Amino acid sequence: MISLNWKNSFWTTKLSICIGESDQIIHMSSTLYYWSGGGIRPPRNTYRVKFFKENFRMALTNAQYDAIMHEYENRRSIHRQELEERLQSVYESVPGYKELDEETASASVDFGKRLIAGEKLDRSILKNKLLELSRQKQLLLIESGYAPDFLEMGYTCQDCRDTGYIGNEKCHCFRQKIIETLYDKSGLRILTRSCNFRKMTAKYYQGEDLTRFLKAKEVAEDFINNFGSDYQNLFIYGTVGTGKSFLSICIADELLRKGHSVLYFSSLELFKLLSRNTFDNNGKQDRKAIYDDLYGCELLIIDDLGTELTTSFVASELFSIINERDMRKRATIITTNLSLEQLQHTYSDRVFSRVTSNYRILKLSGQDIRKIQKIAKKESEDVK
Ligand SMILES: [Zn+2]
Repeated sequence: MISLNWKNSFWTTKLSICIGESDQIIHMSSTLYYWSGGGIRPPRNTYRVKFFKENFRMALTNAQYDAIMHEYENRRSIHRQELEERLQSVYESVPGYKELDEETASASVDFGKRLIAGEKLDRSILKNKLLELSRQKQLLLIESGYAPDFLEMGYTCQDCRDTGYIGNEKCHCFRQKIIETLYDKSGLRILTRSCNFRKMTAKYYQGEDLTRFLKAKEVAEDFINNFGSDYQNLFIYGTVGTGKSFLSICIADELLRKGHSVLYFSSLELFKLLSRNTFDNNGKQDRKAIYDDLYGCELLIIDDLGTELTTSFVASELFSIINERDMRKRATIITTNLSLEQLQHTYSDRVFSRVTSNYRILKLSGQDIRKIQKIAKKESEDVK
């Protein structure tokens, strides 16, 4: 494929000719040295607003949307800068590479000029020449000890190439950004720094408690490994401070790393959010967006169920969430201090029935870990 591209001012106004498959780096002029293959597009306001209206059900304001897009632009800019630095280091350390690059650029520009002037040219000659130059450059790079992909563009998210979109669909990384922007009052990203599998320890458990903990850990790992292929839900219960929230956040951490969308709420926050939007007449649009997210995100964690003020509204909302997610085969994790009997009594038979039939039930028991940690911290401070 040969195409002529006038890039706009976001990149450069230089004429460039790209030959080859859209994702390959075959050639670029000396200043514009990579081809996005359709992955990266300069920002265009009208295009973005159109997308916003048509494809976003999540209630981002334009300012929030712009902030996310700006973050993507920054990411791309950082990666472009890094690539430029890598290219400069190759120019300095690999004799002949820069010359080959310049030869590539001038061959293409000459060809482009002649094409525009109306000459009838055999494109395959140029194509072969550029392929040969590209092969020589690659060879030089490898012979000098560089990785073959050293001069390829880096991306924070390979799937969308830091554009936020895969085709017309928003990428999983974009969905997660929206979730974080709209709901992450609890700071799930921050929580995962201290609650993750690397920080998990069995030292607080003994005997039967240890057996339960190890079983729960095994189930959690299975949950993560089969996420997306197996539909599973977890109901983690037990007394205060036995590691239920910790375990649920460990799972969230792993799934976020794998690029899944995770929505995390303490029960208190969740029902506060829902009641605020239900009883606020102006929030119809927001309400719909919130339910779309609650029902649709890949993993929903409701932490500490039972700590909210339980009303008939809460019981019915909880059932709707569990039921809708079950119909859509979307995974849910619930943690609670309540026993199963208390769950039935506090909410409804319907909730109890859904949980007992569709959730893996895990019990954690033992001493209050938070209390032990607090005492240990106090003691170590006293020693100082
Ligand atoms: Zn992405």
